[in-house]
Amino acid sequence: MEQNRIDSPLGIYVHIPFCEKKCFYCDFYSIENHSQRDEFIASLVSEIGHFSSTHPKLKADTIFLGGGTPSFLKPQEVEQLLKALHEAFDISDQVEFTMECNPGTVDTAHLSEYRQLGVNRISFGVQSFFDDELKFLQRIHTSQEAVEAFDKARKVGFENINIDLMYALPDQPVERHLTNLGRAILLNPTHLSIYALIVEQGTSLYSAVAGGEIQPADDETEAAMYEATMSFLTGTGYTHYEVSNYSKPGRECRHNLKYWNSQDYIGFGPSAHSHLEKDRWWNVSSLKDYISRTHDKVLPIASRETLTQSQILDEFVFLNLRQGKLDLNQLHAKFMFDPDAEFVSKALEAGYFKRSDGILYLSNKGFTVCDEIAKEILTKAIEGRYLAITAGE
Ligand code: SF4
Repeated sequence: MEQNRIDSPLGIYVHIPFCEKKCFYCDFYSIENHSQRDEFIASLVSEIGHFSSTHPKLKADTIFLGGGTPSFLKPQEVEQLLKALHEAFDISDQVEFTMECNPGTVDTAHLSEYRQLGVNRISFGVQSFFDDELKFLQRIHTSQEAVEAFDKARKVGFENINIDLMYALPDQPVERHLTNLGRAILLNPTHLSIYALIVEQGTSLYSAVAGGEIQPADDETEAAMYEATMSFLTGTGYTHYEVSNYSKPGRECRHNLKYWNSQDYIGFGPSAHSHLEKDRWWNVSSLKDYISRTHDKVLPIASRETLTQSQILDEFVFLNLRQGKLDLNQLHAKFMFDPDAEFVSKALEAGYFKRSDGILYLSNKGFTVCDEIAKEILTKAIEGRYLAITAGE
């Protein structure tokens, strides 16, 4: 019998909105003013309690403290948060509990206490091992501090550690990116997230690019770096399991897999997103509003939506391809949708896929254009063939 979705363990995300200094490329909700920190923790506890009053004791098997800079939290604050989560949720003994850490804020005593509180996965935002690149990105740490932070985490017993790196910085040669990857794997992390620098609207980087002060990397260089990343990391024992993510066997990020497999997660804190069955909602991106709403015992939700069947199909195709494969049998069984046969055979001929037992497996070449492939596959649905089938939903 198929398990009821709500009975499957979900993921819990908590957004900690404080940073020491805003990095100029960052569009996550974070602020430099920490004066409302105590009220924020009280608000989180209140929001968690409020949610559980309508959804008591849902099962959860991943916790992810993201931000912002969660490593600003004192161990007592993490403990307070954890107590509220345990009261509200039925949390698995096998929980994957990740904390994002900025290497510029790491303290051995705190790391050790986080470990004792049950944090068992650390994600370091290293971004680069070159100090001039870190300076360009306006990071608060040096390369040396990143290495030291990693060593401190290992010393206090963290085995499962991710490193985030960025590439496609302006004027960054491919060789420099390869050096960054080489420095990262010398530390032997269990997981690597490798993202291109994106010029997001509303950031200082965006204004600098719009004003002509900064010239972003061109598409060709970015593609060459992406391909170099795949060859290098898969040749050194890492599995490429999502378009930008690599892990040692069995060390895939279970929390992020919930996002990529359209599973359920509940987010707490300003700007946090949630997904429960077909409903999705997200919180206000303002600490002031967040605190005032939770103080008034109102959930701090900015907006919500119920996913339509066509949105679910879109996500299924995009998210599956970003994980390197698309199961055509499943696509048919779940959505009664078959991609255009001519497009699929052309893509097979072009070497974007290999096909085996009704599953399309992306090649390295296919990974470089996986979003374009997803769009092409969905063209027929967008043209109306699939939408006509689901018009009555
Ligand atoms: S430390 Fe992270 S969350 Fe904070 S501003 Fe920089 S990139 Fe954004």
